[in-house]
Amino acid sequence: MAQQLILSGKVFIVCGKSFDLLPLKNLIQGVRFSGFTPNPDYEDVLKGTTVFGGGKFDTIVAIGGGSAIDVAKCIKKISKSQAPLIAIPTTAGSGAESTGSAVIYKGGVKHSIDCGLPDCVFLMPELLKTLPLYQKKCAFLDALCQAAESWWSPYATEESIAYSKKAIGLLLAGMDGYIEKNLDEDAETVMLGANYAGRAINITATTAPHAMSYKLSSLYNIPHGHAVCLCMQAVWEYMKVNSNLTILTELENILSFDDFKKILRGFEMQPPKNISEGDIDILVNSVDADRLNNNPVPLNKKILYTLYEKILKG
Ligand SMILES: [Zn+2]
Repeated sequence: MAQQLILSGKVFIVCGKSFDLLPLKNLIQGVRFSGFTPNPDYEDVLKGTTVFGGGKFDTIVAIGGGSAIDVAKCIKKISKSQAPLIAIPTTAGSGAESTGSAVIYKGGVKHSIDCGLPDCVFLMPELLKTLPLYQKKCAFLDALCQAAESWWSPYATEESIAYSKKAIGLLLAGMDGYIEKNLDEDAETVMLGANYAGRAINITATTAPHAMSYKLSSLYNIPHGHAVCLCMQAVWEYMKVNSNLTILTELENILSFDDFKKILRGFEMQPPKNISEGDIDILVNSVDADRLNNNPVPLNKKILYTLYEKILKG
């Protein structure tokens, strides 16, 4: 690992606060920026851009989950920097290392910013060791949903479907050993699966479950993957009952809806708490229109209302 990570020149590190717990913390020296939260805010990106200060650095290293990688992508874009961006994911699931867009929130509203792919990616399963169980589950489910959504996206291509299949196969194969037993070999399998899921959505973008998840995540302060899997369950069930898409049948040959529900139950993914009156209206009116239009079955506001009702009830 050490040999692979010798970096020359001035290094700008975008990392989460857990960086100090990682085995590679002594291998990467440079100016650090950690001033962002999960579901990162645009203001934080601007702060990071100020710290980055244009052309002062030779390399940008993003070490962390999807938030760190997305913040780094945006800093590079806003600064118009030519410095290469090296992404080192410390979760298995966001796929941020293999997508060109970054998800940033402005006043609680999600924006997808086109930044381009990181220049180089290191997948190091040993970095997953310190992840809390709940975070592992959320990231895993994000990847699984990305792969399934990409599969049924109207923009799916032969290449993207091959990535989705590969992603789901790897994620399911490594799931038990990675989530429950923390086995290195399975962590590697899941990390690779998540990377393939990212490649799939880099071609197709995501669909309704992601579209509905962003406000759910910001309103109740729950991790992205948690919000996505709750929306996925509701949307998938609706599409199963109300459409007869061949693509759904094909997906079910590899990941059935019942198996997906079983995973959510096993992971104990609960509906959000502290629900207030009027929340469903807020949610329905905040769905990401681009991603929603990418869904193979159209969902109007009335349908979205009933889906959110289900999601909040659990
Ligand atoms: Zn996602």
